[in-house]
Amino acid sequence: MSLLLLALAITTPAPHDTVRYAVTFPNPAHHEAHITVDFPAAGDTLEVWMSRSSPGRYALHEFAKNVYDVHATDRAGRSIPIVRRDPYHWLVVAERRPVRFTYTLYGDRADGTYAQIDPTHAHLNMPATFAWARGLETRAVAIRFAPPTGGGWRVATQLVPSPDPLLWAAPDLAYFMDSPTELSAFSFRTWTVSGPGGRTDTVRLALHHEGTDAELDRYAEGVRKIVAEQVGVFGETARFDHGTYTFLADYLPWASGDGMEHRNSTVLSSSASLATAFDRLLLTASHEFFHSWNMERIRAAELEPFDFTRANPSPTLWFGEGFTNYYDRLAVRRAGLMSDSAFAETVAEAVNAVVAAPGRRFNSPVDMSLLAPFVDAAAAIDPVNFPNTFLSYYTWGAGIGLGLDLTLRGRLDGRTLDGFMRLMWERFGRPVKPYTVRRPYTIADLERTLGEYVGDAAFARAFFARYVRGRDVPDYASLLTQAGFLVRPAAPRAAWAGPLSLAGDSTGTTVTGATIAGTPVYEAGLDRGDRLVSADGRPVAGQEDWTGLLAARAPGDSIQLVFRQRGREVRAVLRLRADPRLGVRPAERAGVGFTEAQRAFRTAWLGSRARP
Ligand SMILES: [Zn+2]
Repeated sequence: MSLLLLALAITTPAPHDTVRYAVTFPNPAHHEAHITVDFPAAGDTLEVWMSRSSPGRYALHEFAKNVYDVHATDRAGRSIPIVRRDPYHWLVVAERRPVRFTYTLYGDRADGTYAQIDPTHAHLNMPATFAWARGLETRAVAIRFAPPTGGGWRVATQLVPSPDPLLWAAPDLAYFMDSPTELSAFSFRTWTVSGPGGRTDTVRLALHHEGTDAELDRYAEGVRKIVAEQVGVFGETARFDHGTYTFLADYLPWASGDGMEHRNSTVLSSSASLATAFDRLLLTASHEFFHSWNMERIRAAELEPFDFTRANPSPTLWFGEGFTNYYDRLAVRRAGLMSDSAFAETVAEAVNAVVAAPGRRFNSPVDMSLLAPFVDAAAAIDPVNFPNTFLSYYTWGAGIGLGLDLTLRGRLDGRTLDGFMRLMWERFGRPVKPYTVRRPYTIADLERTLGEYVGDAAFARAFFARYVRGRDVPDYASLLTQAGFLVRPAAPRAAWAGPLSLAGDSTGTTVTGATIAGTPVYEAGLDRGDRLVSADGRPVAGQEDWTGLLAARAPGDSIQLVFRQRGREVRAVLRLRADPRLGVRPAERAGVGFTEAQRAFRTAWLGSRARP
């Protein structure tokens, strides 16, 4: 169906099989919205759910907790009984009648997962906001927004528009749930991206902020350049379903930092502003846009279709998130919005995190991906040992992406990670029809496609065995040398005790975070909650005092520690080592030779891919 026909079919009154939502905001100061859902006639019992999870977020979020004042009526307004057997869903005794289901929603968190309703906006992540009925998932959806009068609110969303600016549509529940919506007096910028075969896509940026138009224009220009670089990798946009992609940005003191990918849009949120956090906010925009290919359309089999009633774990987040993490900064660098030195710093961060991670003793990138439901905005109140057992699939995956890209480029046969990503796009991502994924991939598909791309199945098998299913790390020093980046200990003469977070107050100094296995402070026995009494007989006033103490020492020195642990006094010897952390520096800034071959390698890697 054409999009216009779809919109007309859904938004005209005729079809009785559409699920119709209406949202009003009677109490924005207290963060309430009122929601009405008209479900068409279905079975004897209608099973109405609030989602427990939201696509792109991996923990359970139990959205039913913020729903109350729930009622069901028939078309004549007569009350229909509701039975509840668990906290997640309502059984409506429908007896084959259409059902009107109404409730109040409380929401006060603006990010990629939740909803926030207040006098400035309604920021709605759909699974956090809208109830749905089992068995009606394939029905078309129509939704009417009724903003408070006088606020100047407009609607920004990837939903299908209609001639009425407050009436929107979706072909089915999955697309509806994937379509976060911002209602506010946002600022708006738009531009087009032309692609092969005369295709043109429109990119829109709806920004709700307290900054200036000049800041918005500078930001939009940065995003435009990044979009062009990423299109350069794949040769085309991700073929947006209505030829339109929308950045929904909320940079407000009352928003929470996040970025969340969707098929034709993203939610970008932060309590910071463009004036204070421009580069970081741009990096998140880069990350989420790359997801329009890698995650939304090049999509893991475990995520498609998404099940809103449970966590949806996938063993390939090192690829979906990690490779996206690798490309977000690469695109910013290629767009000329980051220097080689700044890029080298991001590389150093990733390399240090991967090389030093104690979590690699136990878990591979595949294992780490499967831990996502416990770490991705998960909420439980008992302490976890993740500092010693977990390494983020973002970080490790970016490290794998870096290692694979530089390994492929080092083979000097023209193969690159860009080429591999483009092949993944062609085989698995590029949609055959709107709203669909061409072919969700498995981890075996990734390995096989890499082998076919390189023309060397054994290479792919070995790479996956060592670095994806295994726990090895590539030799970053030699790989980066190819591009004229030097990997050296950053501060080899500095004394190092390992990370130790301390908080001092009038009662003394407390260790506030976990200590890391294999570091001197861990080996000395210090752990979270311990009270640091003295170091070499002198009290330690807090973090700064501790840092100062170490600065005056050398690797090999010892410090006599006294601390209280669970009510008893412990005396231990802390043996300082040389700081093991690595630095990555461009050769031309390190005062060593930068060869023509290295320069050419770096230009091919970090140079612009955007079509002029
Ligand atoms: Zn991501």
